[in-house]
Amino acid sequence: MKVVLSAPVKGFIPELFDVLNLFFGSVEKMETEDLADLVVSITDEIHANARQTTVTLTGLYQTQVSSNTPLSLDPLEAKRLHKRQQKLGLFHALLQATGIQPPWGALTGIRPTRLVFDAMAEGISAQDAVKRIQDTFFVSDEKARLLLDIVEVQNNLPRIKPDEIACYIGIPFCRTRCSYCSFLSREVGDGRLLPDYVNALKREIEGTLQLMKDRGLTARSVYVGGGTPTVLPEDLLREVLSTAQPLFNQAVEVTVEAGRPDSIMEGKLRVIQAAGIQRISVNPQTMHDITLSRIGRQHASAQTLEAFGLARQLGFSHINMDLIAGLPGEDVGMFTESLNQVLSLDPEAITVHTLSIKRSSALYRDGVRQAEEGQVGQMVRLALEKTAEKGYQPYYLYRQKHMAGNQENVGYAKPGFACLYNIDMMEDQTTVLAMGAGAVSKWVSPGRERVLRSPNVKDIHHYLARVEDMMNAKKALFEGIGKGVKAPVVQEE
Ligand code: SF4
Repeated sequence: MKVVLSAPVKGFIPELFDVLNLFFGSVEKMETEDLADLVVSITDEIHANARQTTVTLTGLYQTQVSSNTPLSLDPLEAKRLHKRQQKLGLFHALLQATGIQPPWGALTGIRPTRLVFDAMAEGISAQDAVKRIQDTFFVSDEKARLLLDIVEVQNNLPRIKPDEIACYIGIPFCRTRCSYCSFLSREVGDGRLLPDYVNALKREIEGTLQLMKDRGLTARSVYVGGGTPTVLPEDLLREVLSTAQPLFNQAVEVTVEAGRPDSIMEGKLRVIQAAGIQRISVNPQTMHDITLSRIGRQHASAQTLEAFGLARQLGFSHINMDLIAGLPGEDVGMFTESLNQVLSLDPEAITVHTLSIKRSSALYRDGVRQAEEGQVGQMVRLALEKTAEKGYQPYYLYRQKHMAGNQENVGYAKPGFACLYNIDMMEDQTTVLAMGAGAVSKWVSPGRERVLRSPNVKDIHHYLARVEDMMNAKKALFEGIGKGVKAPVVQEE
């Protein structure tokens, strides 16, 4: 869909396009009306103490919707209300013109649960908070129920203490690149870069440990992710984990995202186990070999079964498995088969992602677009129902742009196996110290009013050359707390 959009506040335009994406998938922004399928014009008028916003659609769809909102004297609140009025005005115009009802209504953000917690902070119950969000943003009953279930699970988990943080260690290499991948990950090739990368990473881990000691911080959760951490040969994996061992010793939960089954060997699992780590991820994505080959995974479903069996045999007691709904060429029947096979393995947690085709992925470049919306909606619903039958509870969710069917990613876990790191990260409520190329550290103020971020450079060669700069930026992040400074950024050269 090609769209021309004019609005009084230029800064709101990207989020207004997010609303258009809810209805039309990927929308192309046009500058002139001649080639556009749809023209959206948004205007404002001030009457007494209220602002009237009018949204007019012409072209493929034609309608006009107006709304009035009282003006606020607080500049930040005024901006928030103004943006919301324009987004909701556009949402109503599109709803009226197309008859399409996006499952998450007008919500375009990635963390719907955070809105619930913000409302609960005003002293209302979880039920009332969800109801308020449902009524404001026209969220479907099904998604409102999911929100409530997740909030209830999270509410029963231990709260993070003021001196606790989350830590992330990134290994941004994979054997091959999946065609839907938009992460910072490069193919490992002949592995020549790995020893230098591990040396730099070890320096950053040691510096971070010192910083935590100086600041009196302890890790509540640690996540070793990527990429694929188990792409490292046994000796290098051991070096990384033993350098980070003091972090693991303090943490309540440590995860190694073993990830790709073709990288999971007995020796590497033993190295992970020797570090005292119980939570790993073994990610099939699908149990259909034809799809695995279509998405460039270059492993077979038999390797997933083998890797899972090996991990169980060695005694890993907390295994997560990732699946993706809406993979190219898959219908509801194929997704159900994968889901059933994964459930039969009885992992402690299952994360069901909805395919999101980002512009940086090979799938996007190859012209593959989202799966049919109705089918993806059914897959996601099936995942919710079948995991519930087996005793799993949804415990965290997040949304991304360009998700098939406007659905979401949901983590399901057996009681007692919700991943604290996933929750802390998604709710944006925890300070994070992140190590590795492209990893992003952030400091979150106690009331969550402020979040300062310090991203590491993404390019591996720059990372190797500038690891000390990134360590210094991390220190400066903490030195700036309370002084109103901006987060330090280490620029790519
Ligand atoms: S395993 Fe993950 S990080 Fe690696 S290429 Fe595939 S999607 Fe990207």
